[in-house]
Amino acid sequence: MRDWAEPQPHAAGQGQIDLTRAQRLARRLCENCKKPADYPRESMLKAGFKPEELDGNWKPYRAVGCSSCNNGYKGRVGIYQVMPITEAIQRIILAEGTALDIAKQAEREGVRDLRQSGLIKVRAGVTTLEEVILCTNE
Ligand SMILES: [Zn+2]
Repeated sequence: MRDWAEPQPHAAGQGQIDLTRAQRLARRLCENCKKPADYPRESMLKAGFKPEELDGNWKPYRAVGCSSCNNGYKGRVGIYQVMPITEAIQRIILAEGTALDIAKQAEREGVRDLRQSGLIKVRAGVTTLEEVILCTNE
């Protein structure tokens, strides 16, 4: 599995932190045979959904499988984390902050991490909760 987007020209330097374009590929649900899934609320919360997101107005889907797909999946869907380099993040980089420092600042600034980006795809019915958990377990 390819973990990262195209190599960045500037990332050739020594130990440069590049959190800006993390990417994972999850298997895409087959539109033909996917079915709504009933996950326990607890599992959904544990996966990272917020209580207010579980309002009962939508359902995650599960893989089923039919003659036109592979075990309920067909193709791939990218899960991206795109991090804008804000002034605050730039300061941390210049001060030789760690990846953790940057991740914390990004969180303060409301940047979605990979898991959260994946959960949006679950909510949209594009992939399954299992796939997102599998792809974004760091
Ligand atoms: Zn199918």
